[in-house]
Amino acid sequence: MLKKVVLFGGVLLTTALCWFAVRNYRDASAIAEENLRGVAISISSAVENIAFHDPSLESLHGLHPADLAFLALTDDSGIYRFHSNGDLIGKRATADQRATEQEESAGRVTLGTGERAYQYLHPIHLPDRTLHLRLTLHTYRADTVIRKATLNVAILFGLLAASWVLSAIIYRFAVRDKRHQLEMARREELARLGEMGAMLAHEIRNPLAGIKGFAQVIGKKPADERNAAFAAKIVAETLRLEHLVFDLLSYARTAPLSPLPFQARELLEGGVALVREESTAKEVAVSVACPADLLLMGDRDQLGQVVLNLLQNALQAVGHGGNIRITAERSETGITITVTDDGDGMDNETITRVFEPFFTTKARGTGLGLAICKKIIEAHDGTIAIAVVPGRGTTVTLTFPAAMEA
Ligand code: ADP
Ligand code: MG
Repeated sequence: MLKKVVLFGGVLLTTALCWFAVRNYRDASAIAEENLRGVAISISSAVENIAFHDPSLESLHGLHPADLAFLALTDDSGIYRFHSNGDLIGKRATADQRATEQEESAGRVTLGTGERAYQYLHPIHLPDRTLHLRLTLHTYRADTVIRKATLNVAILFGLLAASWVLSAIIYRFAVRDKRHQLEMARREELARLGEMGAMLAHEIRNPLAGIKGFAQVIGKKPADERNAAFAAKIVAETLRLEHLVFDLLSYARTAPLSPLPFQARELLEGGVALVREESTAKEVAVSVACPADLLLMGDRDQLGQVVLNLLQNALQAVGHGGNIRITAERSETGITITVTDDGDGMDNETITRVFEPFFTTKARGTGLGLAICKKIIEAHDGTIAIAVVPGRGTTVTLTFPAAMEA
């Protein structure tokens, strides 16, 4: 649409400029003609004046106006009474050189030298006779206007042509650039897919190798008393695979949110309950601080997963007997939820990469937990930020717009 408007505008502008230039050019011819006629008329009246006062016409030799090529006066019988070329005076003019008009007339003629000149014929009525004036003027000075106009037209057409060509080139480059960008994006996507595929293969191959190994051992010595322990390891590896598949599905999910109102405190405490077994085993104290009346509007299940992922990370970060604190509150800008642990924190490289899918520093991590959190929180128009005090712990802060409060 925009392309069409621009193209239409360009054509319109070009047409207008061409019309203007052509008109200007035509006017220039008329102006040149008018100038020549003006010069001719003034010379003609000077000649008439002189002829009136000096019947011998001798004084005409003193007349040298600018632009005059030559000047001739013939009488009714075709004899030159005066001619700029003195040799011709008294001679008979050739038929085509005779001026017999009774009326003024003017026009362009080609001289014997090939020069295009302006010829002006005019009868001069004296008391005793009528003379026929033939004036020929050089047009060089008068035609300057035409030459200028021609030059202007040429420059204008040149500029127009150049700008069209330039526009076409720019357009082609833009099209090519766009195609190039699309191609680059596609390649990046493919590269990312390949990278993900490689990581996935790695993530799946390790537990599979474990499962295969333990099963082979059991197969060789079915009666071995250690088999129960190997079976437990097979179950653990299978759980790990299950976990991976679950995380992958969560990360890949594009299902729209289904927002419903729910209590913030219930969300947080629900998360704590899900990790109770682990936290108890590690003797980690988990506290929740949240106003009882804080009602949120969002996808309860997906936000529940965010809380669970953050709690799991915190639990894995703290040592035995550590502390985890979860808070939710209304702030000036909206709603803030924090999860703080007193674990070891993380180094700078980890901080910059935590949201990358498959980035993990754990032997048994999927590296998808925080990537999933980020995706879910952004779908709720929220933000996630990580603050670390090295050696003292980590705080993950989620913020949501005030509109999220139900
Ligand atoms: P995973 O837990 O499977 O490793 P995550 O995306 O949940 O994947 O986390 C990515 C990485 O971020 C973790 O491997 C860990 O290095 C770091 N991390 C996340 N949360 C914490 C935390 N509370 N304390 C220290 N490091 C953390
Ligand atoms: Mg995690």
